Amino acid sequence: MSDKNIIEKAADVVGNVTKFQKQSKLKAAYLERDEFKDSDMHAGYFCYNCIYWVDSMGGKCMIVNDKGPDIFGNESGVIAAHGCCNGYEPNSGKLKDPNTR
Ligand code: SF4
Repeated sequence: MSDKNIIEKAADVVGNVTKFQKQSKLKAAYLERDEFKDSDMHAGYFCYNCIYWVDSMGGKCMIVNDKGPDIFGNESGVIAAHGCCNGYEPNSGKLKDPNTR
């Protein structure tokens, strides 16, 4: 068990958060396809349904950088609602129950 007090532990957490660097779109194998723009975002492996997605200023992600090229070489400058990558984690509160379709 750690002999650090609560203040030291909190300082470690803050230090780790400031050191955290988002992955590039390429490293995360991020992709965006225009064909999926008008899809039902509540039913699919889209950033919109991912726990890391933040719906602000066109779309951001907590773990993937919105700048730089995706795997197709396109630079949209956002993490789009209809995008996806290999870090996807479903947000069960947003996903439609497939049994109710
Ligand atoms: S699918 Fe990937 S890029 Fe999209 S929000 Fe989730 S982690 Fe971020």
